[in-house]
Amino acid sequence: MLVGRKYRLMLTPEQAEMAEGFGNICRAVWNTGLEQRRGYRRRGAWIGYVQQAREMAEAKAEHSWLKAAPSHILQQALRDLDQACRTHGTFRVRWKAKQRWQPSFRFPDPRHLSVERLGRKRARVRLPKLGWVAFRWSRPLGGSVKSATVTRDGKHWYVSFLVEDGTREPAVSLERGRVGVDRGVVTLAATSDGQFLDRGFITPGEAERYRRLQQQLARTRKGSKRRKACQGKMRAIMRRVRDRRQDFHARSACQIVDGNALVVLEDLNTAGMTATARGTATEPGTRVRQKAGLNRAILDKGWHSFELAVRNRARRTGAVVRTVNPAHTSTTCPACGHVHPDNRKSQAKFVCTVCGHTGHADTVGAKNTLARGHVGHRAWRPRRQPVREAPTSVNPQGISALAIEAGISSASAAGGSPSPSYET
Ligand SMILES: [Zn+2]
Repeated sequence: MLVGRKYRLMLTPEQAEMAEGFGNICRAVWNTGLEQRRGYRRRGAWIGYVQQAREMAEAKAEHSWLKAAPSHILQQALRDLDQACRTHGTFRVRWKAKQRWQPSFRFPDPRHLSVERLGRKRARVRLPKLGWVAFRWSRPLGGSVKSATVTRDGKHWYVSFLVEDGTREPAVSLERGRVGVDRGVVTLAATSDGQFLDRGFITPGEAERYRRLQQQLARTRKGSKRRKACQGKMRAIMRRVRDRRQDFHARSACQIVDGNALVVLEDLNTAGMTATARGTATEPGTRVRQKAGLNRAILDKGWHSFELAVRNRARRTGAVVRTVNPAHTSTTCPACGHVHPDNRKSQAKFVCTVCGHTGHADTVGAKNTLARGHVGHRAWRPRRQPVREAPTSVNPQGISALAIEAGISSASAAGGSPSPSYET
């Protein structure tokens, strides 16, 4: 199984300068390549990776600055560009602007890379042209290196190795549980078995400091040194917030996925939802833009990155991750199937107007999400007959649908063992 391993690099000042240069050349190659592709598209033609790579090799004779960077990383930049254009369309791919850009380049060939461990916490990697670079051995590599990506994030440089760890992806999870997850603005995730996973990602002190820096930034001139320093400090705060969030996502994903064969999430249009969250949280109309950055940090639970963490964990355990249509999940009664907005008394409280079923609205949402994931959302209709509590109820359709997805025939799944009970 391919896994990622990221370490902090200890570049010497000369190496850092060189790496910065590599990054700039990659950026230039990306932008030139993109311009060329757009030119071709405007004429109704198409240029692909192979031709671009050949032209770049020829261009080296004329533009000697291209030779300063290892040719593999430049080819990789063109390959990434090719991929981006194929996925998003040539005119949707963005320029790598100098202001936004954090240097990043990949060495795609493992034959040019060698890693050596030097001590308990020290190791080094040999990278083309940069030579031996020390890095902090913060965790074992655990396999053979396939490629290495060097990036800078603020002041620090990092190397991410793609590692083949020699394990096989489990085809099917041996667990028996199943869980529905409801993601929200107030709580990151509520599960169908009643768990609530959440934490604040920014501390009050950081929020205050960030607010001051925003004011300070407004008083600086564009392009000034003070502005740059101020932006650096702001980014440092946001980086800590981001790291905290990522860490929490990874932990929560383990908590949710482990022990379950099926994980059901709502299919969220994250981009559209963040926009509304931003709008409702700020005073409409006044200073929305200035406050947006901070509010985003407070509000942002990182739904998309959480889903990625769940899928990543599921890859290791063999659990199936499904997404279902989230419409009315928070207003449907999990006990009798009655759908009405009045069922939801407040943000947190759910009381069914027909049968009187009560629960936390997020848990109810998660139960309904799970119920839909069982049978597939196309075929799903609210249940008419009272059934047992959602997380513990299992219908045979759900098992066979899951088994088919996991690649087992439904006969062996249904006949292999007596109907299991899913008591919590
Ligand atoms: Zn009801």
